[in-house]
Amino acid sequence: AGATDAIRALVRTIPDFPRPGIQFRDISTLFLDRDGLAATVDALAATVTGPVDLVAAIEARGFAIGGALSVRLNAGLLLVRKDGKLPGATIAEDYALEYGRDRLAMHVDACAPGARVLIVDDLLATGGTALAAVRLVQRAGGKVVGARFVIDLPGLGGGRALDEAGIDVVSLLAYE
Ligand code: 5GP
Repeated sequence: AGATDAIRALVRTIPDFPRPGIQFRDISTLFLDRDGLAATVDALAATVTGPVDLVAAIEARGFAIGGALSVRLNAGLLLVRKDGKLPGATIAEDYALEYGRDRLAMHVDACAPGARVLIVDDLLATGGTALAAVRLVQRAGGKVVGARFVIDLPGLGGGRALDEAGIDVVSLLAYE
């Protein structure tokens, strides 16, 4: 709990970003702190029990956490990007945003069949983004062994949605 409190103290809340009424949980302040960053990677690594072949990190803040965690777990790093950014042949999945839709993509050959893949992002809200990443990895033949987040917003239901999809989900902090 000590480490979790220290991590929470480094997350900054910015009111009315990106729109009025939204309380944005800003983890850039956590990334800036060497002890907080290390504690975050340690705490996430401690939640992973079985072997992981690839960490699938979601653009863009997920890249920072996922990159560090992949090294710690002795895993490779799979980049899940906004559609149109990857140079090779890709597969893509649409997902719902509060207003409209967006599309995530990964290289079609990024994941060997049967590879054990851990999904990583900074924050879980509705779960739409993470579930799109799950579908991508599964289409590529990977086995999703879990999903990890620094922050969960339980009021938005993402944890339940991942749970119902059979995904082992752990987040370090919850904000109501
Ligand atoms: P979801 O698809 O679960 O509704 O939204 C999660 C995605 O939105 C994540 O990729 C996350 O980076 C981003 N996101 C939404 N709200 C916040 C927030 O308050 N803080 C941060 N850092 N990211 C957010």
